[in-house]
Amino acid sequence: IIDIKDITRDFQLGNETVHVLKGIDLKIEKGEYVALMGPSGSGKSTLMNILGCLDTPTSGSYILNGKQVSEMPDNELAEIRNKEIGFVFQTFNLMPRTTALDNVALPMVYAGYSKSERNERATEVLTQVGLADRMDHKPNQLSGGQRQRVAVGRALVNKPSIILADEPTGNLDSKTSVEIMKLFGEIHANGNTVILVTHEEDIADHAHRIIRLRDGVIEKDTKNENIISY
Ligand code: ATP
Ligand code: MG
Repeated sequence: IIDIKDITRDFQLGNETVHVLKGIDLKIEKGEYVALMGPSGSGKSTLMNILGCLDTPTSGSYILNGKQVSEMPDNELAEIRNKEIGFVFQTFNLMPRTTALDNVALPMVYAGYSKSERNERATEVLTQVGLADRMDHKPNQLSGGQRQRVAVGRALVNKPSIILADEPTGNLDSKTSVEIMKLFGEIHANGNTVILVTHEEDIADHAHRIIRLRDGVIEKDTKNENIISY
């Protein structure tokens, strides 16, 4: 589903070129559950943004679901991103003045679905993430964990093949983190491919495969021998 060969990503800072990703090879199959770890600044978010088609590599090849996306123009990339990828952020990134239902339905607006189709699907997804009784709440009327559930719902709404989450529990207390990890476990059990970034071993142990990045290269890529499940 994901096939990356020798990807690099450089950033230009004034006259200086910063080499952030320095040659990443990575294959992830459909239905895998992967945790991406590594020190701050090692390039995790940079790699996630490329995986999620929010950014393109400086060099190398990225094939997603059989399509070469590394050199795609922005408009085609945006379409792939909306259809094939669900992205969850540490800071939730919800629309503040918009209800949970409309936040979840938003990617369907871009995908061109009618209002009734959007409402039906968003209701289904909010029920799946445990917020059937919070559809009309705005983000500031929800707890952190509930906000993250809305963000997960939004990531799921277009039935993407891959769910990417960059430190999804980074702003949550440990009890709420466990609830969100249960939700990711369910999403994985439903057949989704899940890739998440975390600093915490306890969170990473929910995944079946753990990849450690250091200084822009993959340092370690191992099967998780002590998977936490519920
Ligand atoms: P953290 O755990 O703190 O989130 P990370 O592993 O996600 O760290 P990245 O955000 O991928 O790290 O950043 C890796 C390096 O790339 C950092 O040194 C950062 O300063 C640099 N970097 C990221 N984005 C840019 C950019 N747009 N311009 C210049 N440098 C950048
Ligand atoms: Mg990061």
